[in-house]
Amino acid sequence: MSEAGAKEELPATSAPFRAVAGTLYVVATPLGNLRDVTLRALDILGSADVIAAEDTRITARLLARYGITTRVLALHAHNEAQRSGDVVARLARGESVALVSDAGTPAISDPGARVVHAARAGGHPVVPIPGASAATAAVSVAGVSAGAFVFVGFLPTQAKARRTLLANLALLPAALVVYEAPHRVRATLGELAQALGPARMLVIARELTKTFETIAAMPLGEAAEWVAADPQRERGEFVLVVDRAAAADRDAPDGDAEAECARWLPALLRELSPARAARVAAAVTGAPRAAVYRQALQAKPARTED
Ligand code: SAM
Repeated sequence: MSEAGAKEELPATSAPFRAVAGTLYVVATPLGNLRDVTLRALDILGSADVIAAEDTRITARLLARYGITTRVLALHAHNEAQRSGDVVARLARGESVALVSDAGTPAISDPGARVVHAARAGGHPVVPIPGASAATAAVSVAGVSAGAFVFVGFLPTQAKARRTLLANLALLPAALVVYEAPHRVRATLGELAQALGPARMLVIARELTKTFETIAAMPLGEAAEWVAADPQRERGEFVLVVDRAAAADRDAPDGDAEAECARWLPALLRELSPARAARVAAAVTGAPRAAVYRQALQAKPARTED
């Protein structure tokens, strides 16, 4: 068992930290906004003997912004196996190494796990320098009702593996946190709706911490259409947070509210999309929106055009 960090004393003041010899630091960096770096991350990046970076050009921008001149070497998905040995040799020689990825926390859908494993196996301390991660940033603003969330990261690229995983995830009483690339986001939203049901609440967290940051909440069944409605919404980086399935069941309307909604919905659905109709019916009757949305989907007639 490693006791990494145990020897590093907590400073009584806000004095800068210095990287300790023979230690691997796993350093979180900003998702976009360069001011989201922590003071301790800057201390370690500035005092380590070397920085192992996923893309040296991207890391160079962060370092230049903060006047850090530490030497940088490349450690990415394609050379991690070979570079891990190199890093362990440096640690053994008493060098301190800071590991960073392009954005957020290394080893979270990024390279890093292999070199961490190798360093620990070699008996070297591995110390986290926590900070930004797209998953935690998205969950923090999602307002999910589930007490737990499962970090899915990127879904498998193979269709069958994706379907199997989603079928299993659908059974969990937890929110799901999915990473997705812009060119796949619409298709993935469709697949999520199919596998998890259209009524589960979704939060799309797009371009977090950047100029066009967007946080939008809607029933999963409406999401692909929402993205398609504006080409801007399909650009950038995405985290999809899907609330747990049980929320809809737990919040099922009582008999009165359901009957009341049933009275309102046919007229509303002639003018509005199921999501909007559900929002209005929920506001009027006080019934939970997710449950009313499911009712709306079942009751949906053909919509009349003006
Ligand atoms: N290690 C990173 C972390 O801690 O979040 C994740 C790296 S992974 C290669 C990149 C994915 O993270 C993107 O495709 C997107 O799903 C998510 N992501 C990264 N930055 C983001 C941002 N600013 N806004 C939304 N999602 C982001």
